[in-house]
Amino acid sequence: MKSLRTFALNEAQFRVSPEVKAPASKISDFFGSNVFDQKKMKAYLSKEVYGKLVSAIDQGTLISQEDANHIATAMKTWAMSKGVTHYTHWFQPLTGTTAEKHDSFFEPSSEGPVENFAGSALVQQEPDASSFPNGGIRNTFEARGYTAWDPSSPAFIMENPSGKTLCIPTVFVSYTGEALDFKAPLLKAVNAIDKAAVDVCQYFDKGITKVNASLGIEQEYFLVDLALYNARPDLVMTGRALFGHMSAKGQQLEDHYFGSIPERVQAFMVDFENESLKLGIPLKTRHNEVAPMQFECAPIYEEINLAIDHNQLLMDVMEKVALRHKFKVLLHEKPYAGINGSGKHNNWSLITDTGKNLLAPGKTPKNNLMFLAFFVNTIKAVHEHADLLRASIASVSNDHRLGANEAPPAIISIFLGQQLNEVLDEIEHSRISKKIKEDNALWLGIPKIPQILLDNTDRNRTSPFAFTGNKFELRAVGSSANSSAPMTVLNAIVADQLVKFKGEVDRLIKKGEKKDIALLTIIKRYIKESKDIRFEGNGYGKEWEEEAERRGLANIKTTPKALDAYVSEKSIELFTKTNIFSKRELDARHEILLESYYKKLQIEARVYGEVANSMIIPACIAYQNILIDNAKGLKELGLDKEALSTPVEIINKLSQHLRIVKNNVDAMLEERKVTNNIEDTREKAIAYDEKVKSYFFNIRYHSDKLEQIVDDSVWPLPKLRELLFSK
Ligand code: ADP
Ligand code: MG
Repeated sequence: MKSLRTFALNEAQFRVSPEVKAPASKISDFFGSNVFDQKKMKAYLSKEVYGKLVSAIDQGTLISQEDANHIATAMKTWAMSKGVTHYTHWFQPLTGTTAEKHDSFFEPSSEGPVENFAGSALVQQEPDASSFPNGGIRNTFEARGYTAWDPSSPAFIMENPSGKTLCIPTVFVSYTGEALDFKAPLLKAVNAIDKAAVDVCQYFDKGITKVNASLGIEQEYFLVDLALYNARPDLVMTGRALFGHMSAKGQQLEDHYFGSIPERVQAFMVDFENESLKLGIPLKTRHNEVAPMQFECAPIYEEINLAIDHNQLLMDVMEKVALRHKFKVLLHEKPYAGINGSGKHNNWSLITDTGKNLLAPGKTPKNNLMFLAFFVNTIKAVHEHADLLRASIASVSNDHRLGANEAPPAIISIFLGQQLNEVLDEIEHSRISKKIKEDNALWLGIPKIPQILLDNTDRNRTSPFAFTGNKFELRAVGSSANSSAPMTVLNAIVADQLVKFKGEVDRLIKKGEKKDIALLTIIKRYIKESKDIRFEGNGYGKEWEEEAERRGLANIKTTPKALDAYVSEKSIELFTKTNIFSKRELDARHEILLESYYKKLQIEARVYGEVANSMIIPACIAYQNILIDNAKGLKELGLDKEALSTPVEIINKLSQHLRIVKNNVDAMLEERKVTNNIEDTREKAIAYDEKVKSYFFNIRYHSDKLEQIVDDSVWPLPKLRELLFSK
């Protein structure tokens, strides 16, 4: 029988890209055409209802049932004018993907069938959602989860060849009101940081009434030909190549990064960009990444909730459009051992309703004091809750990446760049407040902060959290992750920190201290207290691990233990105080994350067993039999031992590697049986990590050796060189 590999290689050779046509010659002519944005709301709604909707979006005011009816009708009218037949609440359950349940507008009525969309259907939907992960919050007997409209993210139309659907971004909560998704806690964290930041802004500018967290997400991904992908059960089942000897050429020549984009890939990029732009996703950048067949795209930053919805939507669009081009998008953090993995850099800043970026150094010393307040409080927050930030990026797939040699290490630290480090050191060591008191000239006390920093962006790629001029960049987020998890944590910890800061400054002011001196005094203390989290050196080095340990910074390499931070007393206090998670919600989340961790390892273990037993071992034995026939033939011809030695040596080597593969697969199976009986989820996850996973290495190592020995034409799996270099 011809192997699937042969068939796939044939297919992949002769790909022709489908024709890609932009909807219009200028992007601005079709950007957002599938979004019910404010401009369309205005056109389709009465002035009064539009006003109320805008205030719901901006201030979070409630929308009455009657207004919801008007809005629903307007949405329906707009959507139907674009050929939409169905609607769905679009939400982000803790599975990590997005979820939809489509209903049609169509309804029978006494006067014949009509198209209907009631306000109640816009605002709330009860999906039959008993099997989304809920960590024990929602027992199946009361399996009611509700999705509720998030007006701050506009409705949009998803186009598929089979039809168009109106998607309404929603939160997903249990019958008892607990969050079952990523969005609900994010919205609460966004609210918390808005309040806390506005309060601190009042010291500087009374005109500021709202602060938005902004986010720009750089998305890395791999592409692989669809036929080759389908011939790899490991890629299909787990998203990563569990087997495969590294190809002779990988990324060592550094010839891919920023190189010219292969034509077939570019056609795909343009196609998914067009689809995304229609959905209002402001994609701007595309380029090759470091590893072969690895690429990146990035939009312009937006309000954080919208940016995350857009990133979730983008991943979905990429996957769908890729199929048209006979590609498969790999969003896994580490599809291929031995070359770079993929991340999702989260560029974060705080921007006021007066248009000021609170993380941009200002022109005047007064502005710089404001900058320093937010800058230093962020550093302090990360210092206090580094373990929680680490937990928020933990997943089975990101474990492969963190600490591997191209991604930030599992130690959370902050890179500031030389200039800002000097500024902080200067403040720390100067006797500013005393000096100010003496000569009453506060502004002389603040060091000059260069407004344009020397290019900070790429100077330290090894740092998990870097300041890049006017924003912080969390680089440790995994490429497949929903950014809500780390962004909920980041905004929560900074919000909490700002509240504490305000409390401390106010106390000093109450005691009679001048405001600016009070601010600077606390900032100075924070600089000192959070110093250990700052690191400018090489995050990949062994020395950093040692230094970090001396500083008492955590270095938790695997997910099950990293996740402990979600349920530590400190975190529970933080989240309940900021009203973002209840303890019950945290326990549930912890449970879900642990469960997802071991289940994914369980799947990997099964695929290891199946592929080794049913593909690799048989292929090797078949080849071994050919060699045995060959050896027998040589012997029949009366040739001597020397002549026989080549087939015999290979037969022998095959046997040795085969034995080890088989032994490890069998032992892993036994280990799994034991592990599966562990009741406690955390213990089970740890056992999967420490026990079951420990067999993976040997199974792979010896299978990869076999790949190097066996006749290429009988090897069943497309090889890494084929996956990485067929474009
Ligand atoms: P890099 O050199 O890291 O690629 P870019 O300037 O290309 O930096 O920006 C990367 C991402 O950061 C983009 O999505 C961009 O829109 C976003 N970004 C830029 N400024 C800000 C900001 N103030 N807040 C949040 N994101 C920002
Ligand atoms: Mg970047």
